[in-house]
Amino acid sequence: MSHQMPETTGAKAHSARMYDYFLGGKTNYGPDREAAAQSVAAFPNTLTAARENREFMHRAVRYLAREQGIRQFLDIGTGIPSAPNLHQVAQQEDPACRVVYADNDPIVLTYARALMSGTPEGATDYIEADARDPKRILDHANGTLDFDQPVALSLVALLHFIADEDDPQGIVRTLVDRLAPGSALIVSHGTDELDVSLRKVLEIYRAQGITLRFRDREGVREFFSANGFSLVEPGIVATCDWHPELVDRQDGIRRPAGSITPEEVGCWAAVGLKP
Ligand code: SAH
Repeated sequence: MSHQMPETTGAKAHSARMYDYFLGGKTNYGPDREAAAQSVAAFPNTLTAARENREFMHRAVRYLAREQGIRQFLDIGTGIPSAPNLHQVAQQEDPACRVVYADNDPIVLTYARALMSGTPEGATDYIEADARDPKRILDHANGTLDFDQPVALSLVALLHFIADEDDPQGIVRTLVDRLAPGSALIVSHGTDELDVSLRKVLEIYRAQGITLRFRDREGVREFFSANGFSLVEPGIVATCDWHPELVDRQDGIRRPAGSITPEEVGCWAAVGLKP
């Protein structure tokens, strides 16, 4: 018997829509929810892991805008909009921040309007593009971003979707080579080093035709060290442990320190600066 599915959704789950489901969004369909439910069964902390990943991105952007004075951001693997989006976090620090988003999932393009409703003083743009074609992304971003000034490149929960055969190190090198001194690289990356039970999730993604490749801490370090980036303290840590103090000034909501553990988040996180 065939499923009653809208034609446009296809029969397979998409990583962007599964992540949307984990974050409590509504932009997901039957196959996404089924695969997502399997992930939650295999790794019960999946929802916590997704939320902590998202909040790491918020804190990293806040840190770079607040402490490093960065006003330009290039975010690849943006995901379906989920407020606050990167430009909202950045423009809360300075309305003049400029942000370019890129994702290869057509569903993200459908919702891109929400990503482009920034401040009049700043700028936001979106390109449907594949991270495996970094030159195209750079050329497009060049219209909105000034590459003579520092840019923060955000690859948050993206690189674990890039297989070794697609040369993730080469992709990152091409991207960061274009960046001016004082630029930054933000990375979060799924790993089975913090909790081995996450390995069960690999097969669930692969059954949907989605490449998922965990890397260890040293693998994540290489994205920075191979390009001469220096890591911001405390280096490579679980997402929940990266500058937990950098909360939103307005929401004031804090979980008690230490209430989320590295085992629960299953993701390494780091921010590096280009000398
Ligand atoms: N960065 C966001 C969303 C992470 S979900 C966050 O951390 O909150 C991962 C996103 O990467 C999905 O939206 C997926 O569509 C996108 N993605 C996966 N492979 C990609 C590729 N090769 N090129 C561009 N985007 C990709």
